Amino acid sequence: MKYYDKLIFELSRKGRTGYSLPSNPWKASTDGIPAALRRSAPAPLPEVGEVDVVRHYTNLSQMNFGVDTGFYPLGSCTMKYNPKINEEIASIRGFQGLHPLQPSCTVQGALELYYDLENALCAITGMHRFTFNPCAGAHGELTGLMIMRKYHASRGDTARTRIIVPDSAHGTNPASAAVCGLEVVEVKSTPEGLVDVNDLKPLLDGTIAGIMMTNPNTLGLFEKEIGEIASLVHGCGGLLYYDGANMNPLLGTVRPGDMGFDIMHLNLHKTFSTPHGGGGPGAGPVGVAERLEPFLPVPKVVKTDNGFRVLGRPGMPPCPKCGNPKGSKGCEESAGEVSGFLGNFGVLLRAYAYILMLGKENLVLAGKYASLGANYIKECLKDCYKLPILSVCKHEFVFDGLASGKATTLDVAKRLLDFGFHAPTIYFPLLFHQALMIEPTETESKETMDAFIEVMRQIAAEAEEDASILQEAPHTTPVRRPDETRAARQPVLKYGDLA
Ligand SMILES: *Cc1c(COP(=O)(O)O)cnc(C)c1O
Repeated sequence: MKYYDKLIFELSRKGRTGYSLPSNPWKASTDGIPAALRRSAPAPLPEVGEVDVVRHYTNLSQMNFGVDTGFYPLGSCTMKYNPKINEEIASIRGFQGLHPLQPSCTVQGALELYYDLENALCAITGMHRFTFNPCAGAHGELTGLMIMRKYHASRGDTARTRIIVPDSAHGTNPASAAVCGLEVVEVKSTPEGLVDVNDLKPLLDGTIAGIMMTNPNTLGLFEKEIGEIASLVHGCGGLLYYDGANMNPLLGTVRPGDMGFDIMHLNLHKTFSTPHGGGGPGAGPVGVAERLEPFLPVPKVVKTDNGFRVLGRPGMPPCPKCGNPKGSKGCEESAGEVSGFLGNFGVLLRAYAYILMLGKENLVLAGKYASLGANYIKECLKDCYKLPILSVCKHEFVFDGLASGKATTLDVAKRLLDFGFHAPTIYFPLLFHQALMIEPTETESKETMDAFIEVMRQIAAEAEEDASILQEAPHTTPVRRPDETRAARQPVLKYGDLA
C-alpha cells in the first residue's frame, strides 16, 4: 500500500494545521444559535498539514475514472463531447451571478439566450416550441406525458389512459408513464431489433394515449417503419412521444418533427455537451408540435416589442420598472409548473455555446463520426463477441457476450478496467442475456478505438485460455470486486464504519 493511500484520518496528528486564519472579531457569533444545537466538543476532524490535504484529494481524484482520464464507451448514457470552453463560458460572472427572481428587465441577455436556444432546438428537431423547465431526461418524459394527457383531456377524450412502449425502451420510459398515471402496454421487437408493426396494430384503439419511442432505438438501430407507425398511431387518435436523450446521430440529418413525432425531449447533458454523472445538473427540454403549444408548462419566455418577458411565473410580483405581468392567458390549459423557475440555466448556456460553435455543418458531422466509430468497433470485434443484430448501426450497438461463452459480460467489463478503459453498459437493454452495449462517441480517434479493439480481442483470447483471469479481475484497481448487493445496501460512508 502506498503511503498516501491511507485515509486522511490515519494521516492526522493532534495539533497539526494546514491554515492560519485571522482571529474572529465577532466574538458573539454563536449567540443566536440555541444551546441544544451547538456542539459541546470540537468536531473530530483530521488534523493535517496543507500538503497532506492537497495530496489526499489529488490521489482520491485519480482513483476515479472520468472521461478526462480515459475512453468511456458506455452505451446509451455516454458522456459525449464536453468542450472545456463551455465550462469557461458557464463560469462568466455575469451568468453565474444571475438570480431567478431578478426582474426581467435586468436579465434581458439571459432571456434572449432562452429564446435563441429555443429557436435553434426547433430548427434541429422540427418541433414548434420548447420548454426548458424540466431538469433531466426522465423529468422531460414526465412533462411530455403530462402535456399528452392535457391534450386528450382538453378534447374530452378521457378514455386514453394507456401508453405503448417498445420492449427495447430505456427504463425511464415505462417509469415516467407510470408516474404520470398511464398504464404501460409493451410492443415487441422483431428479430431485427425494430418495433414489430404487426404486434403494434392490434394494440391501437380508443384507450391509447400514444406511443413512446427512441429513434435510433436502444439497440442503435433506425426505426425504418416510423412513417407507418406514425400514421397508425395518429389514425387511432394517439400522439407520438420521442425520447431524444441520445439524438446526436441524427443531428442535422433527420428531424423527429418530420418523422411524425408530436412531443419530445432532449438531454442537453448528453447530446449537447454538459458533463453528467454523479447526479450533476441536467436539462431535459421538451418540444411540442404547434397544436400542443398551449399545454406547455409555465413559466415561459416570450419575445415582445419591448424585449423579452417571463410569462406565467406564479408568485412573482410585477417588475416596478418595466411592469412585466406575471401570468399569461394560456395558463389554464398549461401542464402547470414542473420545476422552480426556468430550468438549469448553466446547462442551457453550454448547449447554446456548443450549437453556435459547431454550426449547422459540424453538428451533422458529430452524428456521422459517432456512427462511423460504432460501426468500426462492431465490425472489428464481431468474430469474438456475439453480434445478435448484424445491420448497420447508428451511434451504438449491442453484443450478446463473448462468442466463446467462456466468461460472462460482467467478467469482460471488470477485466477492461485493468487496461484503463471504462466498461461499456452491461446487461442493458434487457433483450439479450449478456448485453454489452458500446458507444464510442464522435470524439475518439481511430488510434484510441484500435487500442480498445485490441484489448477486447485480448480479453476474448484470455477467456478461452484461462477464464479465471477475467473472473478475478480487476487486478489493478484500488477496490477490486465489491459485493455489489452489500456495497449498495450497507455502504461504508464514514471512517468509523470501517470493519
Ligand atoms: C439517459 C436517458 C434517459 C434519461 O435521462 P436522465 O437525464 O438520466 O433522466 C432517457 N432515455 C434515454 C434513451 C436515455 O439514454
